[in-house]
Amino acid sequence: MGEIRNVPFFNYPYVFTSNEEKFLSIIRDVGRRGAFILQKDLEEFENNIAKYVGAKYAVGVGNATDGLHLALRAAGIGPGDEVIFCSHTMVATASAIYFTGATPIPVECGRDHLIDHQSVEKAITSRTKAIMPTQLNGRTANMDELQSIADKNNLIIVEDAAQALGSKFKGRCAGTFGLAGVVSFYPAKTLGCLGDGGVVFTNDEKIYKKLRMLRDHGRDETGEVIIWGFNSRLDNIQAAILNYKLSFYEQEISRRREIAGLYQSLLGDVKEIGLPPAPNSDPEHFDIYQNYEIEAERRDELKEYLSKNGIGTIIQWGGKAVHQWEKLGFNVKLPFTEKMFQRCLLLPMNTSLTDDDVYYVANKIREFYGYGSK
Ligand SMILES: *Cc1c(COP(=O)(O)O)cnc(C)c1O
Repeated sequence: MGEIRNVPFFNYPYVFTSNEEKFLSIIRDVGRRGAFILQKDLEEFENNIAKYVGAKYAVGVGNATDGLHLALRAAGIGPGDEVIFCSHTMVATASAIYFTGATPIPVECGRDHLIDHQSVEKAITSRTKAIMPTQLNGRTANMDELQSIADKNNLIIVEDAAQALGSKFKGRCAGTFGLAGVVSFYPAKTLGCLGDGGVVFTNDEKIYKKLRMLRDHGRDETGEVIIWGFNSRLDNIQAAILNYKLSFYEQEISRRREIAGLYQSLLGDVKEIGLPPAPNSDPEHFDIYQNYEIEAERRDELKEYLSKNGIGTIIQWGGKAVHQWEKLGFNVKLPFTEKMFQRCLLLPMNTSLTDDDVYYVANKIREFYGYGSK
């Protein structure tokens, strides 16, 4: 028995301590200017992040859940409409649909854990108005296939790219495919701020203008109230912090891809588990590894074993796909997704991990299944 090493699933204090002095100076600067709401730091960040993903417009919002809700509203989704989403997602995806008055329609995930195109096609009815794919775990779905389904059926696409800032399909960034796309800055996300935050991307000027009003009480540039609106603005302090973090975001992604590569090389031969696609395994996909989601035989035992050895793991979404939360009133069986939920497990994946941490996690998994150490 070697020494037990503590590898938490996510290191929340590190979000702050990794750049503590810089953050404090940013907060001091914004605070002394009294620049809290809808100020230049937000505008600069919106410009920078739009440029980063290659979108025409970016609108900072209170969080990604609000962003999804407002994007659907801006697109005219409402009562009587149906919106298709993949059940392997955060409940936020579905609640954003629900609160427009539309009906959320869950469908299966595929083998890569992203929305399954065949299930989408089967779920389309005369009421379907939109498809909302989740670009899960930092991977972007095959958007060619999804777009062609949307085009054939006259549907819009709104992307839940909460987990996928900088992830690409065929060189194009998640969040820029549909009419609108949304990214989250929740602290544990790849670009996390010190609280809640989100952004909506769009290339459509009308949607852009509507989003800006929807997030700010329905007011236009002159302060005139044009529509019923909400209060969901990205705080200027958070924007200033995000602006700084965006300047080295590429390094963050590189490190995550490096860790994914390390897991792949250390666990690729373990037959009892299935790994996510390796970083350079498919030229069409550029994955940013928001999460590292494996499938495992005897998953619950493995989780327990890792926990006893100081390693934190998580079953995403509290262990259920959205349609499995019975009290929300879904009445559908999604056998592939349900089976997958008996096997899936998130391993630690974040930039506070050292290579030694990754070796330790991988070797404990090898040990559990009776493989020799690497
Ligand atoms: C985190 C997350 C959200 C919600 O983001 P918030 O900014 O916390 O509202 C929505 N969808 C997915 C897939 C997420 O991972």
